[in-house]
Amino acid sequence: MSESEKISLWQRPIASLDGVGAKLSEKLEALVGGKTLFDLVCHWPVRWTDRGVQPSIELARFGEIQTIRGVVQHFDTAPRGSKVQKIRLVDETGFLTLVFFNARSDYLRRQYPVGEAMVVSGHVEDFHGQKQMTHPDYAVTSDKAHLIPSVEPVYHLTAGITNRRLHGFIHQALNRLPDLQEWLQSDLLMREHWPGFKEALSSIHLPDEIDMEQFGRSRKRLAYDECFARSLTFRSIRQATTQTDAPRLSVSDEEFDKLKESFPYPLTGAQIRASGEIRSDMSQISAMQRMLQGDVGSGKTSVAAIAAFVAAKSGYQVAVMAPTEVLARQLFAGLNELLTPLGVKCECLSGRDKGKKRTAILDRLATGEIEVMCGTHALFQDQVEFQKLGLVVIDEQHRFGVNDRAKLTTKAVMPHLLIMSATPIPRSLAMTVFGDVDLSILDEKPPGRKPVDTRALPFSRLEEVMSGVIRAVERGEQIFWVCPTVDSEDDNNSAILRHSMLSELLPGKAGLVHGRLQASEKDEALELFRTGKHQVLVATTVIEVGVDVPNATVMVIEGAERFGLAQLHQLRGRVGRGSKPSYCLLLFNPPLGETAKKRLNILRDSQDGFEIAEMDFKLRGPGDILGLAQSGLPDFRFVDLTQDQNLLDISRRHADYEFEKGGGFDPKLVSLLSLLGQSDIIRPQA
Ligand code: ADP
Ligand code: MG
Repeated sequence: MSESEKISLWQRPIASLDGVGAKLSEKLEALVGGKTLFDLVCHWPVRWTDRGVQPSIELARFGEIQTIRGVVQHFDTAPRGSKVQKIRLVDETGFLTLVFFNARSDYLRRQYPVGEAMVVSGHVEDFHGQKQMTHPDYAVTSDKAHLIPSVEPVYHLTAGITNRRLHGFIHQALNRLPDLQEWLQSDLLMREHWPGFKEALSSIHLPDEIDMEQFGRSRKRLAYDECFARSLTFRSIRQATTQTDAPRLSVSDEEFDKLKESFPYPLTGAQIRASGEIRSDMSQISAMQRMLQGDVGSGKTSVAAIAAFVAAKSGYQVAVMAPTEVLARQLFAGLNELLTPLGVKCECLSGRDKGKKRTAILDRLATGEIEVMCGTHALFQDQVEFQKLGLVVIDEQHRFGVNDRAKLTTKAVMPHLLIMSATPIPRSLAMTVFGDVDLSILDEKPPGRKPVDTRALPFSRLEEVMSGVIRAVERGEQIFWVCPTVDSEDDNNSAILRHSMLSELLPGKAGLVHGRLQASEKDEALELFRTGKHQVLVATTVIEVGVDVPNATVMVIEGAERFGLAQLHQLRGRVGRGSKPSYCLLLFNPPLGETAKKRLNILRDSQDGFEIAEMDFKLRGPGDILGLAQSGLPDFRFVDLTQDQNLLDISRRHADYEFEKGGGFDPKLVSLLSLLGQSDIIRPQA
């Protein structure tokens, strides 16, 4: 089999597995964040359960998963109408009660024949000092004991998929995936005692024993692959930007002064500095690759307007992209307000624009009449044609992948690129994560902003908080109320539940927006809130980025302990934009763990996104990959930024070497790049 045929097996859909239908594959895809077998086997276990040791019943430990051998002695006679059935398993040291709810008795009797020697594995509970196991995870006759894995990885799950099933699918996938030709140098592998690529994956999903050191080496190897693939991509983006010229875009100082004077407010020092850096970059023949980082409300839109102005006045067009339609329209509103008075033609293309209207916009774009075009990523579609694209502005970079950036380098004339982000990435990390982008930082807020009064309250004070909300409504102010989930039966913190409570207290004044609504329904809900018809907006985190409602003064976040710190800070940034005092109330469900407590305290004591991010980062122990994903950093699968800095450095040098040695790419790297990188922009030597 050729290497590319092997790769295509890794890229087969999850739905190709036995026992995975359309519905299930959808669930699995959402869970693992991808559609291929490769994505599936990258789903990292949270921990491992040891089912290998088999204590006697006497020595079995309460509260732990244990595997126990015994003989089925008898079935307890259940009282009539009882839904509980009990089976007694004995060995020479004692007995264990197996408990079943709502099970069919004939089924149980077939499953557990009296007198049979069996092996069961599950959680041992304490029932008045006696040992019992409710619904064993595994139960087999003793000749089939090998069917119980001695070590079982424990995964993050989603409704409708058990751990055992997921493990089974991963096992099946690994059985089908062929070994790949090694792409790392053998001296590196030997020095670090790293396993091969597939071996690394197998060792964490199908281990014979729990060996944390081995798991650590496997993860490191995969993390290195990931860093290396990314470094190669970054390196090729850099190469492309130096090989293809960008247009020189500049305006005279007089024109720039006129622009500043036309703004409704004086620019902050930070805005002036950032726009100076951007003007200087855009006047160069090699394309700008700059990230503008600024906390929520720091005034990034004005800086984007300056960049767009420079491009338009130099005769070039600007594409401005946001992650959602609502945000695109809001960004358009902001830019339009600043730029139209200066004679710059702005437009917004939305998915709603269909037929004639859409064609008309696209025509005006193709002829160059529209100078600043706002929209979602759909602006990158084939039908959208610019006459002379000179600048691309991206709001909220973390949804704009390395891959998208790489795509830009394939244009005939390389546009300048400005990425805007409110995700407060610690300075120490930004470079390693994003590669060769230059940074401009807005570390100063527009004057007159008051800090948001932040308090943490236990959930038992819900009623007080609701009364506070009613008072704020009576004062004519607006309130965001954020919940961690949309709707779930056993969740006290769901948006639908809270919305129905608030609607009763405030008829006709409370709106609801969450991820399960259609785009148009979301827009409508946000619009009702923005225009003040609704004074309360109950929401899930769909409002996280960007919605600008200066009249909003209160942000309630329910189940605050379930959100990441960076996310909480972003949410809080939605209030405190006007002149009135504003509040952020963090409703938590006690008891809080130590770290959770510290996190809420950090948020209460600081209003500085960067400081919060640094502290958050320090609070995380190594290995908290998931937590990092939540913090809004780009989506690494295996890299743990708290402990893999050195991998990023080594892999960067390794990538430089690949480029500098000349003669094109080593074909071995193609497999690596097709799985973990952006193979479409890096072409190996023929
Ligand atoms: P963000 O960085 O979150 O995108 P925006 O660009 O939306 O921030 O700006 C937030 C608010 O601050 C807007 O209402 C904007 O008009 C206002 N603003 C921006 N720059 C200044 C400034 N220099 N002085 C006063 N207000 C400003
Ligand atoms: Mg913004």
